[in-house]
Amino acid sequence: MLLPLLFALQAQGPFAARADTVRPRHDALHYDISITVPDSGPKVALSVETRWRLTSREPVRVDLDSLFRISAVTVNGKPAKWERPGDRVLIPTGRKPGDTVTTRITYEGVPTDGLIIGVNVYGARTVFADNWPDRAHHWLASQDMPGDKATADFHVETGAGLSAIANGDLVKVDVLPGGRMRWHFRIAERIPVYTMVLAVGRFAAVRLPDAACAIKCVPVSVVTYPEDSAFAIDGPFRRAPEIVDLFSTLIGPFPYERLAHVESSTIFGGMENATAIFYTEKAYETKTLPERTVAHETAHQWFGDAVTEDDWHHVWLSESFATYGAALWAEHIGGVKGRAEEMKSDAQEVFKSPDTERPILDLRTADLKALLNTNTYPKGAWVLHSLRGLIGDSAFFSGLREYYRKYRDSTALTADFVRVMNKAAGQDLGWFFTQSLTQPGYPLLQVTWKYDGNLLTVDIEQLQKESWGLYRMPGLVLLIDGWPAKVNVDGRTTHVVIPHVAEVPRSIVVDPDGWWLTRTIVREGKAQ
Ligand SMILES: [Zn+2]
Repeated sequence: MLLPLLFALQAQGPFAARADTVRPRHDALHYDISITVPDSGPKVALSVETRWRLTSREPVRVDLDSLFRISAVTVNGKPAKWERPGDRVLIPTGRKPGDTVTTRITYEGVPTDGLIIGVNVYGARTVFADNWPDRAHHWLASQDMPGDKATADFHVETGAGLSAIANGDLVKVDVLPGGRMRWHFRIAERIPVYTMVLAVGRFAAVRLPDAACAIKCVPVSVVTYPEDSAFAIDGPFRRAPEIVDLFSTLIGPFPYERLAHVESSTIFGGMENATAIFYTEKAYETKTLPERTVAHETAHQWFGDAVTEDDWHHVWLSESFATYGAALWAEHIGGVKGRAEEMKSDAQEVFKSPDTERPILDLRTADLKALLNTNTYPKGAWVLHSLRGLIGDSAFFSGLREYYRKYRDSTALTADFVRVMNKAAGQDLGWFFTQSLTQPGYPLLQVTWKYDGNLLTVDIEQLQKESWGLYRMPGLVLLIDGWPAKVNVDGRTTHVVIPHVAEVPRSIVVDPDGWWLTRTIVREGKAQ
């Protein structure tokens, strides 16, 4: 059979390509992170123990900014030899593939990135980790890449009167001599290093009603600077538990034990750190933090955190899913109209962006931050939306649920998602993913109609530039005076004859329900 063979080749192509230049060497299983945050000044002291499963006889390679002064390196508790080429620490272990070893690196210094130590908008001292995409190694000795997920313990020592937050559950708090505190957090699920964070400062924490109790109750809290607590609770986070309810119902159980929404000094509008989402303090200061950002970041707990892109070039598996999550929330609160407004605003962003000259799956980009663009956010959300329109709600959501179930606490490539959706839809969707993810642009349709007798002739021409390629749009609906006609758009020109049309149409609306990302012109053809 020619078709399945072609599809098999395709699945091994860009959908499965790993374009990140650095691949995990060994499997980091667990990080035990101890950090001392001083009462003043930017110098921190850390000791990071990592348990590894070795995949070869190569040395363990740990990413760590070269500016830190390393005072000790051990393997299984014994002093070890090590080398330091640039921002890496290489530790030979003398063990075989399959062995488990534990390394510990003890170091101190002033982080220049990744851990932001300073004062917040109110002049109070704060410390926030801000890792995306590979900035964790500027403070955390780790294998700093999305393809290697691990569990973690955090021991954060702070000054008296300050609180600490990290991923997962607060296990205990020790009071140390002089009133200093040591906060122990633990996350039992494997998460990517880019979401391993901590925060230190004076915070007000408010517990909202638990979410998703129909499945398993998820405690939800809002953690802010004390000055911003009222705004956060009454404003953007008012319905935060309901957002967790929605995605739990649509996609599957919330992946973690709890969720905190944390005000922070992140450089991003929001950063989806597992169990502890960070939002920029600027949006609290200006009171402009929208609920759609809360929905987007919350959706990331499922897509990005629990199911992580194995390679940065497949980041649409994280960002497009979160962006479509915001549209699903808009649909939940505002119905089809609410969703349509959200998708329209996403489409407007695509139409005005030069990013669309590159495909969503852009394996050529070397600058990781450049991967956060209009393609991986609104355009990718449109890929999911069109897929839903194409295969229907039932297949779409059962596919999403299966994809989450299968790759939860693990990593995935686009090929994995394609495989799951093909199965859920019972059809080969390779053509759809190929045009949506590997072609630039979108279809620009010129719809020309002519009425003659009771025959309506419609020519749909794809006017987009050659470099964007042609798009297939099966089942595109034309609403003719309120009556729907389905057209299979395929090739540069699609010619359709609709018989038994009683009178000259007064209106023809292309894709009235808005399932396709397309710009259209409808015109009456001149009689020959
Ligand atoms: Zn995002």
